[in-house]
This record gives sequence, structure tokens and C-alpha cells, in this order.
Amino acid sequence: MISCYDIGGSFIRSGALQSAGTVEESERIETPRNDWEEFVQAVKKAAATATSRISISLAGAYDQRTGIADVANIPCLHGREVEKELSAALGLPVAIINDANAFALAEAVDGTGRNKPVVFGIILGSGVGGGLVINGDLVTGFGGIAGEWGHGPIIDPAAGGTLSRIGHFACGCGLVGCVDAVGSARGMERIHSSLHGTRLSSREITRDWHQGSEEATETVDAFTTLLCRALSVLVNTLGPDVIPVSGGLSNDSKLLELIDRKTRDLVLASYAEPLVVRGDFAQNGGLHGAGIFARRIFGSVGE
Ligand SMILES: [Zn+2]
Repeated sequence: MISCYDIGGSFIRSGALQSAGTVEESERIETPRNDWEEFVQAVKKAAATATSRISISLAGAYDQRTGIADVANIPCLHGREVEKELSAALGLPVAIINDANAFALAEAVDGTGRNKPVVFGIILGSGVGGGLVINGDLVTGFGGIAGEWGHGPIIDPAAGGTLSRIGHFACGCGLVGCVDAVGSARGMERIHSSLHGTRLSSREITRDWHQGSEEATETVDAFTTLLCRALSVLVNTLGPDVIPVSGGLSNDSKLLELIDRKTRDLVLASYAEPLVVRGDFAQNGGLHGAGIFARRIFGSVGE
């Protein structure tokens, strides 16, 4: 049986790949973040029923060529050859895919992007990420970075207006003013604090926005302007048929509608249908994508 895992900063979710291609989730346990031995033991425990092969969707950057992972939320994985080391510890073949790529693959094969040539799946959650699938094939690119649109500075100090009142936030990648630092849920919170001097969670900001608060409206406007400008460059570069979204912010349909409208207003092609939409696998793209990845890497579903 092929076992699939979705390993994030909070939980390790596990499930078994079914013959129909779906992944049935069986359990979730907390992710040990700081101790490699504890991490291996937790994966072993979650993998107790695994009998043949293991496919893992992993949060954070993962370079398939070198096998090196860099997961900000799970420091004990930093710089390790996770695939090789886990495989040795478990005594089973292990294949690892980045979580944004797993989500994009799930959407392209079985979700909103089914039968569409270019699918760019994005994650708008605690961070900003993405994955590109062209004609059903995942594009990983040089160094595995394809789809990582969350990094690269976009904040312009000379922009003027509301945007010039937003601070230049440091990003986890070492640069300042990245899309990730302003376009994520945390980015929305930083923008709000920068503009209004009050610290609210992204949930509170969007709730206030729904209720017509002027301050929250200004925050959401600045947030979506920055996010959609960056996204529009990607749309013009890739020509996606659909941009499915996952991550915490994808649960707010009004916010997604605004992001979709603003993005479509900025791009060269005229999209008649919504382009930025909530993914069919917004909740379980990691597990489902790990299942598709397993079938591709390991071949058949059975023993
Ligand atoms: Zn960055």
C-alpha cells in the first residue's frame, strides 16, 4: 500500500492511496518542529501501517535535484536530505513534493484545472506560494523554484499615496518587501498595523472589511493592489487558464472575488470567466497531490 503524508508546520496528516486515486485521510498528529529524531519518530508512528512506498507533500522549499529541504516552520529539517534520510530511517522508498506543487497538481489533474493546459495554483495563507502545471506536467524549474512567486521585492518606497505609508517588511528569505511579506495573511496584518497603528488578525481585518470599516477597507485595498500587481505579471508571463487558490485566505469568497477582479483588470488578455478561484482541493491539496505524485513516481497503486 502507498501511504501519503501532508507534513506542515502544525500537523502531519496521513492517509492511504486508494485504487480510485483518492487518498483517504486516516489521522493527524502534531509535527515535532525542533528535533530531527523526534520528527523521524513522529513520521514512523504516522507511517506504522505503510507497507511499501511513501509519498510526502512537504511545506516549504524543496529542491528535487539536491534533495535538500528548507522549511521555515520546521527548523529541524533545515539543510537535510529529507527524502534520503527518511527513506533510510523508515526502510521504505520515500518521494517528496513541495506542498504548493502538490496542490497545483491536484487542481490540474482532478480539480478546477482539469483538462486545462496551464494551471498556476497559488497558496495565500501564512505565506505566499505557488505551483505551475503545464499540460498535466509539474514544472519544477531551475533549483526547484518554479512557482515561488512569493519572493522578490515589490514594494516601491516612491510609490506615493497609501502604498508609500506601508513599511518595508523583512521576508524570511532574507530580502525586504517581498510579495510573501505583504501578500500573505501575516502581510495583511502588517499592512494594517503600518497604516492604522493597530494590531489585528487577518480574520478580524476581513471581518471588519465585510462590516464596512473604513480602516479595514483601506488595508484590504492596499493588500489586494500589491498582491494583484504581482499576480498580473505572472498571468501575462504564463497565460494560465485558471488560478486555483488554497490557504487560509481562500476561505473568504468576497476577498477572492476582489483579487480576481483586480487581477483581470490588470492583465493583457480578457478573461470572460473568473480566473482566480477557490481550489477544489483548497483543504486537502497536499494529500491528494501526494497521491497523484506517488502514482507518477512509483507507477501502479497496488503492491
Ligand atoms: Zn522573500
